[in-house]
Amino acid sequence: MKKILHLQCVQCGKEHKTRESDYLCNSCGQPLQINYDYKLISKRFDYKTLENNTTYNMWRYIDILPIHSPEGLPPVQVGWTPLYTAEELADQLGISKLYIKDEGRNPTGSIKDRGSAVAAARALELDAEVITDASSGNASDSLACLTCGTKLKTVIFAPKNTPREKLVQLYIYGAHVVRIDGDYDQAYELCRQATETYGWYNRAAGFNPYGREGKKTCAFEICEQLHWEAPDIVIAAAGDGSIISGLWRGFNDFQTLGIIDKLPQIIAVQAQGSASLKHAFDKGPGAEAERIQAGTIADSICVNYPRDSFLALQALRESGGTAVSVSDGEIIEAIPQLARSTSVFAEPGGAAVYAGLKKLAAQGAVKKDESVALIVGGNGLKDIAGAAKSVAVSDTLVKPSWEEIEKLGLNR
Ligand SMILES: *Cc1c(COP(=O)(O)O)cnc(C)c1O
Ligand SMILES: [Zn+2]
Repeated sequence: MKKILHLQCVQCGKEHKTRESDYLCNSCGQPLQINYDYKLISKRFDYKTLENNTTYNMWRYIDILPIHSPEGLPPVQVGWTPLYTAEELADQLGISKLYIKDEGRNPTGSIKDRGSAVAAARALELDAEVITDASSGNASDSLACLTCGTKLKTVIFAPKNTPREKLVQLYIYGAHVVRIDGDYDQAYELCRQATETYGWYNRAAGFNPYGREGKKTCAFEICEQLHWEAPDIVIAAAGDGSIISGLWRGFNDFQTLGIIDKLPQIIAVQAQGSASLKHAFDKGPGAEAERIQAGTIADSICVNYPRDSFLALQALRESGGTAVSVSDGEIIEAIPQLARSTSVFAEPGGAAVYAGLKKLAAQGAVKKDESVALIVGGNGLKDIAGAAKSVAVSDTLVKPSWEEIEKLGLNR
């Protein structure tokens, strides 16, 4: 099935044939977006075929993904993550319905597995030998995992702020790791130079049009899990803006195919120290994201220049959404709060979403009857040092005798 029409530049609109450019527009240098033949796709893909589909992972949407098949990838389950109803928390915040999409349940503990799966499959289709990426951990971890057992060699450029857990994961999966004494944006540039110089396949966010397509499957699942409806509001954390643009793409795909009626508002949460998208959104229509010097505890959303800003800002504006920023203090505080009220342990970038919702609810930005879905992008176990900032972890060991236990007065 020839489901792809062309790759279109998000800015100048130039249409590219599938192999004309693998990454950016060859005319203006902006990201490309994949355009599908929805008429053709709708002949075999609708909610009825989905109801009968027994593939419970992201490949249930293969008909509307830009690869032929996931053949050759390891069989780990990417996607079909749970969507929990958080009643108590909704009550506390004065919201009618609150859902938590737990992306930490993916094989490497983050939503990035969805993007990496599509990028790795694409690299195999192109017969690439080496695939490369730059990230503070999640995207690279997922790429390292999803290329295991394939013929792809994986080379990762890891910036200085990569949390230990994410770094170790790379080595465990056998990736070739280059640790950069610099930030994400510097690692990103070097990764791009390696691509240009060595001809490697590059997965990087906002550069590779295929990765974004993987992320849209998160939106598809939410619609299915809510019985063919989108929530009123979807809130996700934003660094490069690729999750935001991917989600918006997914909801639009489902609307185009007649699977859902109405689109949600998309809201981006950024860390105060890494809020380029929010600044641009606040400036108003037409404003573009600017390069800043980012700094936040939430490594996954620590980005100087958001590479997928064009589409992310479009998603916020078209959907009638907004952007909020939260401080590192608010992010840290949100980790145990979210865990204790929903049992979902999020990494700082994931908990930021909850911190953002609290802020929005307090401002009255969420109406009483609106349903909200929070995308918790990554598992708390991926950054233990980050999580440990939110609690007092005792270093005192109690002697293993019952007298010592009684002295603690545990039953008082
Ligand atoms: C990558 C990531 C984000 C941000 O995604 P972008 O596409 O860079 O905006 C948010 N949360 C987690 C856990 C991530 O890994
Ligand atoms: Zn262009």
